[in-house]
Amino acid sequence: MPEQEYTPTTEEVRDRWGRDVISEDLRPEWLAEFDRWLRQDREAQARFWMRVTREHCWLWTGETAGNGYGRVKIGGQNLAAHRLAYEWLVGPIPDGLEIDHLCSVRNCVNPTHLEAVTHKENTMRGNTITAAAAAKTHCLRGHELAGSNLVPSALRRGRRDCLICSRNRAAARRAKRRGEDR
Ligand SMILES: [Zn+2]
Ligand SMILES: [Zn+2]
Repeated sequence: MPEQEYTPTTEEVRDRWGRDVISEDLRPEWLAEFDRWLRQDREAQARFWMRVTREHCWLWTGETAGNGYGRVKIGGQNLAAHRLAYEWLVGPIPDGLEIDHLCSVRNCVNPTHLEAVTHKENTMRGNTITAAAAAKTHCLRGHELAGSNLVPSALRRGRRDCLICSRNRAAARRAKRRGEDR
C-alpha cells in the first residue's frame, strides 16, 4: 500500500517551528522536511513517553548524562530529556533561555515542574547561599531561628527572620528618630 501523502496544516507548522507562516511560505521542500520531522517525532515521542513514570515528578528512566539529566538520542543527536519534554508539551524554548527544574529533580520531565529562565536567574536559584540560608539554625547574632523567634509575617513569605533582631532594629530606629526630633 503506497504511503499517503501528508500535508501539515499551517497550525502544525507554526507549532513546530515556533513562528508564523503564511500559506505561500509552505514551499514543497519545506513541507517534505516538515513531514519527515513529524513522522520521526511521533515515533520518538512514543518511545520517549514509554520511559517515563508519571507520579508527582515525571521521572525519565532511560539513560542519564553524567550530570544527572536525562539523555535521549533522536535522529543521531543527543538531547536533554527535560528540554525535549518542554518543547513537545509547552513550546519552543525561547533563544538564550535555560530550563530550570522547580522541583530540583534533574531527571524529572514534568512540564509543570519546568520553567524557561535566563542563565542569570537559573544560577541565582541554584545558588548555595540560598540553600544555606534555608538550612540556617541561628541568626548572625546567635539567636536560635526556631518556633517563637521567627518573624510571623516573614515566615508567611517563606523567610526565616530572627524576631529578637527584628525588634532590636525597630527599637534602634525609634531611638534614632527621637534623637533627630530633638
Ligand atoms: Zn519534578
Ligand atoms: Zn537574632
